[in-house]
Order: sequence, then structure tokens, then C-alpha cells
Amino acid sequence: MTDSPSRRTLRDIDDLVGAGLVEAGARDGLKAVAARYAVGVSPDMADLMGADAADPIRRQFLPDAAELRTSHDQNADPTGDDRFTPVKGIVHRYPDRVLLKPVHACAVYCRFCFRRERVGPGGEALTPAELEAALDYVRQRPAIWEVILTGGDPLILSTRRLRRLVAALDAIAHLGAIRIHTRLPVAAPDSVGPALTRSLAAEKAVYVVIHCNHPREVTPRARAALRRLSDAGIPLLSQTVLLKGVNDDPATLDALFRALVAARVKPYYLHHLDAAPGTGHFRTTIAHGQDIVRGLRARVSGLCQPNYVLDIPGGHGKVPIGPVHLRRAEDETDAYVVEDAKGGHHLYRSPA
Ligand SMILES: *Cc1c(COP(=O)(O)O)cnc(C)c1O
Ligand code: SF4
Repeated sequence: MTDSPSRRTLRDIDDLVGAGLVEAGARDGLKAVAARYAVGVSPDMADLMGADAADPIRRQFLPDAAELRTSHDQNADPTGDDRFTPVKGIVHRYPDRVLLKPVHACAVYCRFCFRRERVGPGGEALTPAELEAALDYVRQRPAIWEVILTGGDPLILSTRRLRRLVAALDAIAHLGAIRIHTRLPVAAPDSVGPALTRSLAAEKAVYVVIHCNHPREVTPRARAALRRLSDAGIPLLSQTVLLKGVNDDPATLDALFRALVAARVKPYYLHHLDAAPGTGHFRTTIAHGQDIVRGLRARVSGLCQPNYVLDIPGGHGKVPIGPVHLRRAEDETDAYVVEDAKGGHHLYRSPA
């Protein structure tokens, strides 16, 4: 690796113009976007961008004037986390698991991020005392079975801080699992090296969930990073956001989920887009999402099938919203009409 400009993260519009990714004429308009929402393009993602303005990697990371358009149903807290935040850095919405957000910065800033009003390089990280208070919240509640590190991207913490945090969680007897949500193996795969991997070592199960939206993100470097995590015994899952003009067609998601499974990653969630401000240009309908999921069911290995979910606005939690294959038959108890992957219907009666 060299120190050439393309090898550092591009952090503002001037950087993007300098790298030839944004036209000079668009500079002033986009500065208004960057003043509102953090900008960050890692070298790996910059290298992946094609020339076409509609390129799916460009669309995910390059600011767009459309981000300045907000609608009344968009919300700074689209998933309703605020009212489930008992102490700073914790979101406790479900009885058995909490989110713990130690840091608010990321290696890249996705233009559709549901936490875009909170994340950014200037965004607050927890102080050591705040982190200790968050850990105490978990220690004092035996009903909490799982801690999910998210943010921000928790894997941008120094390996020393990460090791301490994982060790602190590992020492909480009532926890069954530690989960880490990250974009790093895709956004900056070389930083997922042996030191980082070692810092995740624990007695308890540590799961890593990779945010990945397009098959081109699964580069040879990303695969190598995933291999290092997998070789360290860490089960790998993925989450994908359904995004108009990025991945909202069966062929793209088919290729993405196959690439992930081939890289030892089990697709976990396909998220319907949350209604964060200025993300309307990424929005698809649920009907379109269901058609895509139905198409995938018919053509791809079961290993490649994530759950299509919606985080119900207002803090009511995530629920599956995929196509429904079963309905009750009329006038009969315990009989059902089942739809197969090709759309055929079959009557199913429970054996007596
Ligand atoms: C998504 C989320 C979780 C994790 O949900 P799973 O369905 O277990 O993946 C936990 N807490 C909050 C607040 C969440 O938004
Ligand atoms: S990596 Fe995650 S938290 Fe960070 S900007 Fe992207 S979607 Fe948001």
C-alpha cells in the first residue's frame, strides 16, 4: 500500500472532487449535504466505484443532492430507539438483548444510514465512565442474555479497547452471546487483521454480522478478512438493506447471497429501508420486496435466504414481512392452502 491520496479515507466534498469522484460543478450543492450528514469513503470503496453515476457502489457512499429532500414521515429516530435508552449507549427494547453503542464513527458513511443523524466523525463515543455505566446496566440485569455491539462501527475501536470490552462482556455470567454488527470487513478489509481478530477471542460465543449490500462488495480482500474471522472460530452472519438502484432485483441479491455464503457468511436479515431523513431516493415498496424474496425462494439455496424484516416505526420492533406461503382453508379446521415457490396452490390437511 502507498500513501497516494486514493489510499486514505475521503472525508469531505473537496476530497471527493480531488479524487475525481465528484464533478467540480456539483461541489457547492453537495457541501450542503455534507454539512448535514457525515461523508466518508474508504479507499477500498473508492476503488470499487464504476464510472457510471448510477453505479451501485457510488450510490451507497457518494453524497447526493436528493438527501436534502425530507418528507413528513421521515424521522431522526426511525426505529424509535430513544425511548428505550435507559443509560447512554444502551438500547433495551427486547427483554433478552440490548444494543451497546460504544462509538459513533464508521469507516464509511452510507447515504441511507438509519442512524445518520447520530453517526459521524465528530459523533460522541462513550467515555470510559459511560461505558462502565452501560456495562453495569447489563451486569445488574440477569434477563439480558445477549449484548449486540453496534454504533457506529464497533470494530473501529482500537484493538486494546475492543479486547477490554469483549473481556468485560465475557465475564458477565448471564450472557449467552456477544454479537458485533460491522461494515469493516467490506469497507476496510485490511484493517480486520490478526490483532483485531485476536481481540474478539472469548469463552462465550462471539457472532459477527457483516453489513453488505452488493455482490461487488465481496472482493478478494473482503473474502480474506472474512476468512480470518472465520478461521478464528467466529460464526459470520450478514445484514443487507434493500435499496432502490443498488440491489432491488432478484439477480443482484441472488449473486450477493451466494457470494456471502461462499465466503462463509450466512445471510441473516434483509432489511426494508428505515425512514431516515433524506433517504427517499433509496425507497422501494414492500410489495416489490416481497416479489424479490419470492423470486429468490424459487431459485437460490436455502443457505442464501435471509429473513426480510421491517423495523416497525415507533419502536415496536422487527418483524418478518416476507411473502406469506400459508393461509387457512375456509370452512375447515386445521386445513391450509399452501403456496409453492412457483405460485402453485396446494391443500394441506393435518394428519389425524
Ligand atoms: C435489531 C435490534 C436488535 C436485534 O434484533 P434481532 O432480531 O435479535 O437481530 C436488538 N435490539 C434492538 C433495539 C434492535 O433494533
Ligand atoms: S456503517 Fe452502519 S452505522 Fe455506519 S453509516 Fe453505514 S449503515 Fe450507518
